Amino acid sequence: MIDSPEHRRLFDREGGRHRFTARRVRVTGVTDVLGRFVRVTVAGDELSDFASTGPADHMKVFFPDPESGILSGPEALGPGVDGIRRPDGAVFGRDFTPLHPRRDPSTGLPALDIDIFTHDAPGPAARWAMTAAAGDELILVGPRGSRRAPQGVDRIVLVVDETALPSAGRWLQDAATSTRVELVPLIGGQLDWVESYLREFGIPARVHRDGGSALYRLRQADVDDRTFVFAAGEAGTLVEIRRLLRHELGLPNYQYAVSGYWKQGEAAFDHHAPIDPDDNDDPEPSRLVAAGSRPRPDEANALGGRNR
Ligand SMILES: Cc1cc2nc3c(=O)[nH]c(=O)nc-3n(C[C@H](O)[C@H](O)[C@H](O)COP(=O)(O)OP(=O)(O)OC[C@H]3O[C@@H](n4cnc5c(N)ncnc54)[C@H](O)[C@@H]3O)c2cc1C
Repeated sequence: MIDSPEHRRLFDREGGRHRFTARRVRVTGVTDVLGRFVRVTVAGDELSDFASTGPADHMKVFFPDPESGILSGPEALGPGVDGIRRPDGAVFGRDFTPLHPRRDPSTGLPALDIDIFTHDAPGPAARWAMTAAAGDELILVGPRGSRRAPQGVDRIVLVVDETALPSAGRWLQDAATSTRVELVPLIGGQLDWVESYLREFGIPARVHRDGGSALYRLRQADVDDRTFVFAAGEAGTLVEIRRLLRHELGLPNYQYAVSGYWKQGEAAFDHHAPIDPDDNDDPEPSRLVAAGSRPRPDEANALGGRNR
């Protein structure tokens, strides 16, 4: 293992904090994209100062109560102001990756896409996506900060399942032109659709398809001391991936980032939970956002307290 100031600099990730607020947005389009993704386009004036410059950025998306259909979530403290007001009662917030922030030429409104994977045990998010329609409303909170891809590395290896494919697309877009990006899918079955999904992001990625297991594929990827690894998916599955990176390959913790995007059998999983509580000296998971942008206590409560 190399762990020196020069080596550490290779993996520097530029970061910054954004205005932390809640934004009410309206669905303007719903399309089926590849695999089992529903792409929801949302737009609204409140997105005018929305910023997201990091590939692992995420926002908490608040969905309507699946029973009553009523949407509640945090509210902005005021225009241009940093901070949110906590909602009373239960909320249904889940984490998603913002895609393609832009100004929609047809409406002139700021807009972005959310690709929602309609998984087998759909909760409030996936269930909502299956019947989403133009005119529906959502509330978005975050991202509170961004960290860019390390610009000095030779390779970035992305170990991802379906839920982290939107993020993989963003890693492809943010990688330096001199950086090769490779994908180790935590996805079973036919993988042609994964390549097609990623192609939309404009930069080709090599997809490791050999062998059945992700561990085998990751070993085949030959991670060296100029490779950064991002792994995201089901939290339990990531335990052995993280052990391989940390113990078998002996990577220093600035050379990889592992993030549990969901956990089998657990609704509204909190991705700040350590992947392996018995073996945890990774930096705070908020390193995936801006350095020094740890949630303040009021932010953490507003997002987590009564989430169902
Ligand atoms: C930083 C971050 C970014 C994310 N970005 C995206 C994104 O862009 N697109 C996306 O689709 N997801 C993304 N996710 C994952 C998403 O937040 C979870 O899958 C979420 O649990 C879905 O909410 P739900 O209401 O459908 O299910 P929940 O109510 O949270 O869970 C209900 C049940 O479904 C199970 N479950 C949850 N997800 C899956 C799954 N993928 N496969 C099988 N079972 C599952 C749970 O274990 C639970 O038993 C992201 C997560 C994080 C932390």
